[in-house]
Amino acid sequence: MALARVSSSSRLSVSSFTTSSMLHSFLRPFSTSSSISAPRFSHPRSFPTDVGLSQDSFASTAREEGDVIEAPRSTSRRPWKPMCLYYTQGKCTMMDDTFHLEKFNHNLMMDLPVNASAADKVKPQKLDYFLVLDLEGKVEILEFPVVMIDAHSMEFVDSFHRFVRPTAMSEQRIREYIDGKYGKFGVDRVWHDTAIPFGEVLQEFEDWIGGHELWKQKQGESLNSAAFITCGNWDLKTKVPEQCKVSKLKLPSYFMEWINLKDIYLNFYNRRATGMMTMMRELQIPTVGSHHLGIDDAKNIARIVQRMLADGAMIQITAKRHSATNDVEFLFKNRIR
Ligand SMILES: [Zn+2]
Repeated sequence: MALARVSSSSRLSVSSFTTSSMLHSFLRPFSTSSSISAPRFSHPRSFPTDVGLSQDSFASTAREEGDVIEAPRSTSRRPWKPMCLYYTQGKCTMMDDTFHLEKFNHNLMMDLPVNASAADKVKPQKLDYFLVLDLEGKVEILEFPVVMIDAHSMEFVDSFHRFVRPTAMSEQRIREYIDGKYGKFGVDRVWHDTAIPFGEVLQEFEDWIGGHELWKQKQGESLNSAAFITCGNWDLKTKVPEQCKVSKLKLPSYFMEWINLKDIYLNFYNRRATGMMTMMRELQIPTVGSHHLGIDDAKNIARIVQRMLADGAMIQITAKRHSATNDVEFLFKNRIR
């Protein structure tokens, strides 16, 4: 069955990377603060609508020119590459094409390296895994990206990424919405090729968290020794419940608690950060990829999480929704409002 194949192949790819110590030899040390951000060009590009357009040509025409960010030669032996957004969704069919592999990154760990001496500084954590989530889409959810980080070793474990097709919107409206949102990154084509409705995304996500033993499909179960990390409360306090209503779904039990990274940041560094970019700037962490492409934002937030762990932060639940009343309780007195 297609769903099972997708989730098992993503697990397979990760476990083979996790055990590879060779991989670490060319990863940049995590703490390097030199900028790897090249100037961004955000002009929208029009795309040929030729149905024969391959995965590779979508990106070589667009992402290359739109958002190339290269690491400086002195700190990296290989140039930064945009992610293959078919691969992140378990749908790349070009894994044996060397040209394609050269152009696109097929390993999220590349942008989430862990420096062994930094990992030694991690304080004991209450949770074992963090699921960094950064939704995209204001009217309806368009992208659901999750990056899974080991709370103790700070290592990247796995990722789950799906583009999401709106349910209550006309085809015409979806086209305009996607052109405006993803056209500027040159990934509107892959969005149209791969997006599935939110209900299907959640089914596949449940297979994925089940495969990692983070959740069991029982009444009212929260995640097992894991929690979502979001940048702000919007994703899980507001957007997911809204989308569940539109998609006529019951709010799943694993969305009932989360970590707002801004609150952890405020309490740990004693500084207020308004968003991801502020935190990255203050911590001098170079950004990778395209800001507001969900999978890249999730990766960048995961980089902040790694840094905060290395700095000695304890990262724990900041908000809980009570299922009886639907009220959200905030667990930190000192928090961003
Ligand atoms: Zn690919």
